[in-house]
Amino acid sequence: MPVAANFEISETPIPSPQEGELLVKSLYISVDPYMRSRMSDAKSYVPSFELDKPLDGGVVAEVIESRHPDFVKGDTVLGHLQWKEVQTVGATAMTKIDKSVPLSYYLGILGMPGLTAYFGLNEIGKPVKGETVVVSGAAGAVGMVVCQIARIKGCRVVGIAGSDDKNAYLKDVLKVDEVINYHTEKNMKAAIARTCPDGVDVYYDNVGGEISDAVFANINKFARIILCGQISMYNNTEVPVGPRPQPLMVKKSALMQGFIVSNFSDRFGEGIQQLAKWLGEGKLTYQETIVEGFEKLPETFLGLFHGKNTGKLLVKM
Ligand code: NDP
Repeated sequence: MPVAANFEISETPIPSPQEGELLVKSLYISVDPYMRSRMSDAKSYVPSFELDKPLDGGVVAEVIESRHPDFVKGDTVLGHLQWKEVQTVGATAMTKIDKSVPLSYYLGILGMPGLTAYFGLNEIGKPVKGETVVVSGAAGAVGMVVCQIARIKGCRVVGIAGSDDKNAYLKDVLKVDEVINYHTEKNMKAAIARTCPDGVDVYYDNVGGEISDAVFANINKFARIILCGQISMYNNTEVPVGPRPQPLMVKKSALMQGFIVSNFSDRFGEGIQQLAKWLGEGKLTYQETIVEGFEKLPETFLGLFHGKNTGKLLVKM
């Protein structure tokens, strides 16, 4: 488990933007579980962070000086930036964003986590009205949106999260049918059987490990298992050996598929449009955990692995 002492905050001079560049000031910096995998030299779909260099990720920023004709001072932009208060960036790497929705939404429900929920559930899970959908990490940025889309599709939804407060939110506000607190539940396999009397048709897996083993044991014929994330293992130094689910997958003619949201990048416009429409119609609701202060970035990021957040976790400058 990384600790705050693995991070360092340093001061450097503010550079001047060159031709074609912008000088931007960070407004919201996203902290995401995938960043943990980048704190290692293992090969992955994103490059590793480098020692003694700033981390980077999704940032909403304001233009404070522009040397590109398409941008002016005061524009708000979204892009992949370093964890810095102020920095220069090539203007073409930035997308101008509309201030009519809360700016933080571009890093959450109308950004990467929202799109992950939308494409993972619809394209791999293919939920059908009346089916049972189980969601792990249900009160997080991705899980919360998955639960609601599954409800919009007319499914029975069972959410798994790590506290009674999170589960109360899932039940009372998001109208999830059943919830399980995996920290207090003694027998997860029995809990899934109890909350899913007709078995599990779709499992949206954000966490992996023993929680997922318990869900697998309850799948129906032709179940679809969406491997979105495995946060329970991101701090492991060795892959634990668990039940090997392949014989069950054969027996149940089940599908298990992993994905990375960028697989659907050519359809992001469609996803954002649909999520924004549901938000506007009140069919989707949304929660964020926003921590203030640049210096809070390390401990806020680490909070992801201790369940500190409900909904999307962000740092506001
Ligand atoms: P969340 O907002 O869900 O935050 C992480 C949550 O995970 C915590 O709040 C905590 O909630 C839970 N958690 C932490 N440690 C454990 C553990 N050991 N066992 C079970 N649950 C744990 O993060 P995101 O919504 O941003 O991401 C959710 C998952 O989706 C992650 O695995 C992430 O890597 C993945 N992801 C995948 C993408 C893709 O393209 N495939 C894109 C984006 C995210 P609790 O209190 O309930 O334990």
